[in-house]
Order: sequence, then structure tokens, then C-alpha cells
Amino acid sequence: MAGARRSRGRKPAAAPDSAPDSGPVAAPPVIQIRRLTKSYGHGDATVHALRGPSDPQTGEPEGVSLDIEQGDFVAVMGSSGSGKSTLMNILGCLDIPTAGRYLLDGIDVGHLDEGQLSLVRNRKIGFIFQSFNLVPRTTALAQVELPLAYAGVRAAERRNRALAALSLVGLSDRAGHKPNELSGGQQQRVAVARALVTAPAMLLADEPTGNLDSHSTEEVLAIIDGLNATGRTVVLITHEDEVARHAKRVLRLVDGQVISDVRQGPAAGPPPVLAAQLQQRAAGGELIGGRQ
Ligand code: ADP
Ligand code: MG
Repeated sequence: MAGARRSRGRKPAAAPDSAPDSGPVAAPPVIQIRRLTKSYGHGDATVHALRGPSDPQTGEPEGVSLDIEQGDFVAVMGSSGSGKSTLMNILGCLDIPTAGRYLLDGIDVGHLDEGQLSLVRNRKIGFIFQSFNLVPRTTALAQVELPLAYAGVRAAERRNRALAALSLVGLSDRAGHKPNELSGGQQQRVAVARALVTAPAMLLADEPTGNLDSHSTEEVLAIIDGLNATGRTVVLITHEDEVARHAKRVLRLVDGQVISDVRQGPAAGPPPVLAAQLQQRAAGGELIGGRQ
């Protein structure tokens, strides 16, 4: 696991630990967690939802430590009860850890009050949920404008940015439609537009394709691939190998511990499925172009 890295040309606050310098990098990790634990209950009834490895001497949980690079695309896998939602809720600043540190984009979120946390959620994170979480009886355009309204963006700019986000997910012609006038796949694309309209540093997606048919799943994943290819960091929870193969890195959780961490592609550049498609297209173009 990469340790804290020396940041260049940025505020020095980004390094939570004195880890060895692992060489120059373009930007500090967007997520840095150190010895993070989350427990529920007390005494014998304690559940360590996030625990990391155990201290060899005391058997106490040492916590989870993890860096996620800017521009990476991370899939979090694991069976039910393994701690995925607990981790996502902490990463999304929806819940606080029992112990340990979490730096998001260099900010120690452990030091923020509720008002500041909601600002961080609004400015830095785009959420996508399995059940879309759209507002009933509200047009796609209004749904996508909503986070901009919370951020205090003026009406004209709100409208322009929301229309641009809807266009990015291929729904320009559905801006006036309400959720009950849209298919599941279209509803999730509205939710993706809503998540990206504030230009967040990170997209957090909890089983985003869990309620979609295979065609809509591919459509939504293609959009997420494209967002990642243009620099958005993506963390997504999934049960499905078909979804995880889109990620550049796959983490597996068992009992609140990361038991495997596999890189499927470099953090920079397009994610693996999109990269393969681009390569195929380039090869096809060569053939059509009359390669000898
Ligand atoms: P996953 O999302 O991987 O299914 P969770 O993160 O929801 O797993 O849960 C991890 C563990 O923590 C489970 O054993 C679960 O029962 C427990 N847990 C989660 N939330 C609570 C809670 N609010 N109170 C008590 N136990 C909880
Ligand atoms: Mg869960």
C-alpha cells in the first residue's frame, strides 16, 4: 500500500503520517485514511464493522489504512455484512469513524462540524445510489439543478450547467420528464447527472447498477467510465464481477478488513473497459483505412 506522499506545490497539511517518500507524484491522494475503525455496541456485543488487521500482541483492531489516488476508479467488493456500506458512509462524510483519520482532498474531516461536513458533501462528493433517490414529481432538469441551488449558484448558471450535465448523460431530450416518465436506466442517468453537476472531486456509487437490466447497466457504466477517463475519482460498491472489471483497482472486504487490493489498470488515463474499446476502435480504423 502506498504511504503518505510528499505533496509538491500544495499545502503541506496533506501528509497524515510520516511515511517514507515514495517518489514524486503529480497530486496528493484524494483519499487518505489511517487506522480507521468503526464499531457498534459495547463490551462482548461489540461489532467491529471496520477493523483492519489485528494487533499481533493485543488482538485489538489496528484499523484500515488506505490511499486512493486522484483519477483512480476503485471497486469495493465483499459479501453482505463485510463493512462496505460502513466504509462508503465514512468516505462520503455521512458517518464518523470510531477511531482513525480521514483526509479528503487534504482536509481532515474529523475536525469539521456538521455544517462544514454538509458543505464538503455538497462541494466534493457526488453520490449515486442503487435506488436512484430522485425527488418524485420533479423534472430531470430541476433534479439536476438541486445541488447547485444548495451551493448558491444563480438560476441562469444553474440551468446551463444542469442542461450540460443532462447532455453528458445523453438525456438532453428528457429534461422536462419526471421520474415516473423515465425508465430505470434513464432515472439512474439523471442521478449521475445530478452527482456530477457540481464538478465534485469524487463520485461515490453504492451498487449503482443493482436495480438495472444489463443494457442500462452498460449505459450507466459507460458514462461512469467516461467521467473517470476525464479525471473524476470514482469509488463504487458492487457485488458483480461484470461491474468490477470496469474499475482500475479492486478492493475486497471480509469482516471489516481489506483482504485483497488488485490493480487492473493505471490510475491515470481511461479505465480498462473503455481503454480496450478505444484500442479496438483504433485497430478497426486502421483496417478500414486500408492497412497493407
Ligand atoms: P455491508 O454493506 O458490506 O453489507 P455494513 O457496512 O452495512 O456491511 O455492516 C458491517 C457490519 O456492521 C455488519 O455486521 C452489520 O451488522 C454491522 N452494522 C452496520 N450498521 C450497524 C448499526 N447501525 N448498528 C449495529 N451494527 C451495525
Ligand atoms: Mg451495505
